[in-house]
Amino acid sequence: MRIDILTLFPEMFTGVLGSSILGKAEEKGLVQYHVVNFREYSRSKHGTVDDVPYGGGGGMVLKPEPLFDAVEAIVGEEKPRIILLCPQGRPYTQALAEELAREQHLVLICGHYEGYDERIRQHLATDEISIGDYVLTGGELAAMVVVDSVVRLLPGALGNERSAVADSFSTGLLEHPHYTRPAEYRGWKVPDVLLSGHHANIERWRLKESLRRTMERRPDLLAQMELTPLMKELLDELRQEQKNSGQAGE
Ligand code: SAM
Repeated sequence: MRIDILTLFPEMFTGVLGSSILGKAEEKGLVQYHVVNFREYSRSKHGTVDDVPYGGGGGMVLKPEPLFDAVEAIVGEEKPRIILLCPQGRPYTQALAEELAREQHLVLICGHYEGYDERIRQHLATDEISIGDYVLTGGELAAMVVVDSVVRLLPGALGNERSAVADSFSTGLLEHPHYTRPAEYRGWKVPDVLLSGHHANIERWRLKESLRRTMERRPDLLAQMELTPLMKELLDELRQEQKNSGQAGE
């Protein structure tokens, strides 16, 4: 995969793209990052990339020419996804990360100031992505979130391939709790089933705890899922447990 990031602050990416799994993925040849300062594509002597909004009002707006020129220089005949990071965009999810991880080439555009000239949105971008219902200073942190979540899904990027499969959201559920040694810490014990070596029971416990977490914290995710017969059985058990504990507390 090739990822181009268009930004006015390329130095922000150095640590993130060079470290940990993102850095290793590039070393392994799974991905190539190209961070481009689109100020280099300004047509003015002073490197201007923004201007005041037509109609008045505060803030500066990113001009179309530098961004169109920068993207066209990268893209050529290709048709990559050209993603505008933007609080008004499609909410970012694991499903969208999985979709982007299947692409060969992504171009991410980081906005700044008041935002983009509308023609960039309408005629240059193929996608607009928001990482949440809050406003950041610029699109750089949002681009890092997208790159991180996509690159870790590339085959070979994670040391342990299984870890991405069971992650929260990948299955449609939040992930089950994890424990590691020691088996008892300050009197808090690891559930017996995890020490039993009985794989079928462990898998059942994990699925049940995953359902419990999702039911308690994100019932909206459960409502969207197609439940298997085993999931229905485990949810019935959880509801019964809830009822019993409610009765015990009365
Ligand atoms: N005036 C814009 C609005 O109200 O929609 C907000 C502009 S914001 C200060 C500057 C830039 O930060 C945006 O162009 C975008 O690139 C980025 N940004 C801010 N919040 C974001 C979010 N939640 N998701 C993705 N990008 C965001």
